[in-house]
Amino acid sequence: MMRTHIHRRRFLQFAALSAAGACLPSCSNEEPGERYTAADIDRLAQQRVQEGVQSSQGPFGPLRFKGYRGLAELPWFELDTDGELRMVDLDLPKAIDMHCHLGMSLLLAPEVDLHQRTDRVIHLLDCDATEPGCDLDLDVYINRNFTDEALDELWWGSAAQGLWGSKRAVTQTIPNLLHEMNTCNVERASILPIAFDLPFGDDLTERWIEAIDIAGAGNRLILGCSVHPQDPARFTRLRDYAAAGARIIKFHPTMQRAYPDSPVMMELYAECERLGLIVFFHCGRAGIEPESTHRYALPRHYEAALKTYPGVQFVLGHSGARDVAEALPLALRYDNVWLDTHGQGVTTLNTMLQRTGGERMLFGTDWPFYHLAASLAKLLIITEDQPGKRAALLRGNAQRLLHLAQRNT
Ligand SMILES: [Zn+2]
Repeated sequence: MMRTHIHRRRFLQFAALSAAGACLPSCSNEEPGERYTAADIDRLAQQRVQEGVQSSQGPFGPLRFKGYRGLAELPWFELDTDGELRMVDLDLPKAIDMHCHLGMSLLLAPEVDLHQRTDRVIHLLDCDATEPGCDLDLDVYINRNFTDEALDELWWGSAAQGLWGSKRAVTQTIPNLLHEMNTCNVERASILPIAFDLPFGDDLTERWIEAIDIAGAGNRLILGCSVHPQDPARFTRLRDYAAAGARIIKFHPTMQRAYPDSPVMMELYAECERLGLIVFFHCGRAGIEPESTHRYALPRHYEAALKTYPGVQFVLGHSGARDVAEALPLALRYDNVWLDTHGQGVTTLNTMLQRTGGERMLFGTDWPFYHLAASLAKLLIITEDQPGKRAALLRGNAQRLLHLAQRNT
């Protein structure tokens, strides 16, 4: 597959545009007011206040740790002789992580070696960098654990300064992921690229599929792909990716600035159905993205897709993030909708388990943003004394999903 050479300077221009909330060719300024309302804005503000007040008040009490290493206080983990966090209860079902990425700095730094093994992984929430580690609260939406400075640095600020292309990304590699999977008893992980529609072209899908092949990791890493809704070659690409073995496609309405129920997107789902691709949506507002992009990810904008394509299996990433209250009813209403549990706090996850019975809840980690163990610990906590549910959430549901989504041609 052809590699496109990427020029850092042009990315900086793109990032500047993006940060300013400017309209790339893929978005339109004309839209009805009900797509994003004052009530929507208010709901996010309320959610933030509520989760702060309610943390530690749920059925599991306080779940605050010092760094990922601090999770060794839980019964399933220990620190090994190298001080590394390790799952020690090997009777637990081997997990399948349906939401994972590799270092995305490839956009900036094509020379980053995805095959390199380093001493430790620098996650984007780098919670083990200090002794003791950072404050990690498992009872809030996970990005609340970032300090304001860390958040600024992380994404819309210093992404443009090449932070991702530097010391962090070189640790977000295939062997480092496999190592962390081994230490956490995770058998397989879905690797989800994102197509950005950069003016010079971007090829994360090609790079990652190729790198997984070169690493011989196809038995552990489930191939994902992504196309941009404005890419004129999107249908050809979809077919090529499916032919190359992709099982799952990631759409990111926020970063791709496209409503999930827009005509161009609705057309793509039909092709995904023919190709047997699982559609994995970023869903809901994480709260850390520019407000100009919040409108695209409101859960109600996903309903037309879910309803129109009952033959497509849709995963709602982060279970709608901070809009989980609006995303959960969609999973109750449509049985082709799955909930990626990544990010939600333990009390919310427990509510989701009670309301849905857990039948379509999936283990997801959003690695390398966070250590695999952070998401794993939460599911272990809510399924204590429920071995059937635990097996479903960690593994069985993902297996069923992969089986259901099969090629229709
Ligand atoms: Zn993600």
